[in-house]
Amino acid sequence: MTLGSLVRLGYFFFRQLLRRVTSRKSGLLQFGENYDADRLRPMTSEDRAQLPSFSGCIACGMCDAVFDAYDRTARGEFRGPSDLPLAYTRNLPDYDALPTFVKHLRKGDLEALERVCPARIPFRRLAVFVDRRAAELGAAPSLAAGQVIDPARGRDKHDPG
Ligand code: SF4
Repeated sequence: MTLGSLVRLGYFFFRQLLRRVTSRKSGLLQFGENYDADRLRPMTSEDRAQLPSFSGCIACGMCDAVFDAYDRTARGEFRGPSDLPLAYTRNLPDYDALPTFVKHLRKGDLEALERVCPARIPFRRLAVFVDRRAAELGAAPSLAAGQVIDPARGRDKHDPG
């Protein structure tokens, strides 16, 4: 290392330290400035804790086989429940495209999907998570007319009424 490069390194090191001490921006503010254009929103610690449980799908197809509401979904908008953990939730900036899919998913018994899933994907919590993240991106809620969320269980009920 030459003397010149050492001086430059020292200069930038102390300049960075000084900026950290004098900057009034919080980490969240800086995060927003850096990533808003990429449509990435900050996560809560609860979100971070939940994320691993959403990503263990092994593509066995059991949830697609037991889903009980295909007759009430639009097949062009909903192929099967496994699309959610397997593909659609992999890109956080695209969550505002998911409420339509989740609206169809909620027509079925999400608890039954959780019971058969060998990877223990928590479909009810995943649907709530997707809704919340989609709303942060400006999407309308996924609930279909006649559906009510039971907050105590995080599960919706379909009223075919
Ligand atoms: S049952 Fe679970 S592991 Fe199997 S495809 Fe569905 S979400 Fe994935």
